[in-house]
Amino acid sequence: MKPFVFTRATDADAAVQAASQPGASFLAGGTNLVDLMKEGVAAPERLVDINRLPLAAIEAQAGGGLRLGALARNSDTADHRLVRLSFPLVAQAVLAGASGQLRNAATNGGNLRQRTRCPYFYDVSQPCNKREPGTGCSALEGFNRSHAILGTSQTCIATYPGDMAQALHALDAVVQLQGPAGRRTIPITEFHRLPGDTPELDANLRPGELITAIDLPGDGMRFAQRSHYLKVRDRASYAFALVSVAAALDMDGDRIRQARLCLGSVAHMPWRAREAEALLQGARPGRQAFRQAAEAALAGATGFEHNRFKIEMARRAMVRALETASRMTA
Ligand SMILES: Cc1cc2nc3c(=O)[nH]c(=O)nc-3n(C[C@H](O)[C@H](O)[C@H](O)COP(=O)(O)OP(=O)(O)OC[C@H]3O[C@@H](n4cnc5c(N)ncnc54)[C@H](O)[C@@H]3O)c2cc1C
Ligand code: SF4
Repeated sequence: MKPFVFTRATDADAAVQAASQPGASFLAGGTNLVDLMKEGVAAPERLVDINRLPLAAIEAQAGGGLRLGALARNSDTADHRLVRLSFPLVAQAVLAGASGQLRNAATNGGNLRQRTRCPYFYDVSQPCNKREPGTGCSALEGFNRSHAILGTSQTCIATYPGDMAQALHALDAVVQLQGPAGRRTIPITEFHRLPGDTPELDANLRPGELITAIDLPGDGMRFAQRSHYLKVRDRASYAFALVSVAAALDMDGDRIRQARLCLGSVAHMPWRAREAEALLQGARPGRQAFRQAAEAALAGATGFEHNRFKIEMARRAMVRALETASRMTA
């Protein structure tokens, strides 16, 4: 490990100021960043420990929404009574991730900023545009079983590997940020990005910007009774998704008033399936409608040598997630 300066921030202003210096990184639970440092993938010159900032609360908001502190641990988020009651999709998605021990340490902010699990990104002996821009993408012609099928570019076909973010997309969450130029909010759907020509950038954050909270708007509560997070993976626990689906339905009698769908581990960012959502609006729930929606969502998908199976897997996962969500009772 390379030497680095360690500072412990006592307030958000000081944290932002320290993290605005070149080569600085925030340190939260450390479950991703410390691994990357040990592997030689990340070498921050300055670590800004934010664990003592007062950003761990989970609080009800006016209008029925919830504010999830950026430093609330994943376990505390999934166990919180209001999260379970009003936004069970979030609790399910968080609990589908990692292991109990990791969730006890991992924070909500860190979860959004976790980096890809592309094996070549972790192997510093291999070319990787995300780790070292301009060196090439080893996955394009290499072992690409877990890689993206939507929104890829010639420079990178990695996926965003997390779980919670798909639920946040489906519920139109909003991310609260504090940076050197002040505070701002950004819809979660604009937080992560596609690789394009700059795969080294995972998110639309400005230098030194700190995630302070994630807001779940009260409108999302109407999906509480019919939502499901489905994660398809090689092992039943402690494995990243091959494909995941966050599905949420709001019913008007026997018709779907509104559907929300977000796919995970199929692209460089959580993939909101808006065409599928539009097709389901006003439809009667059922396998035919769900399959049609899934076809639309995957219409633009392209596989690589080892991951073509993910296209059909994603279609089937969508149908199953929607079927499960639609059977849940009010
Ligand atoms: C073996 C293993 C299995 C896992 N399986 C899963 C899984 O199945 N699903 C899943 O979703 N995740 C999984 N994870 C990932 C885990 O959820 C993340 O490592 C964790 O959520 C990161 O949170 P952290 O607080 O530890 O972040 P850290 O490691 O401290 O930080 C990660 C990144 O986020 C940045 N950061 C942290 N907080 C903030 C903030 N408030 N504002 C701005 N930037 C910030 C840091 O600078 C760093 O770049 C797994 C991890 C491991 C090690
Ligand atoms: S897919 Fe992205 S992360 Fe993986 S090797 Fe290619 S550039 Fe690197």
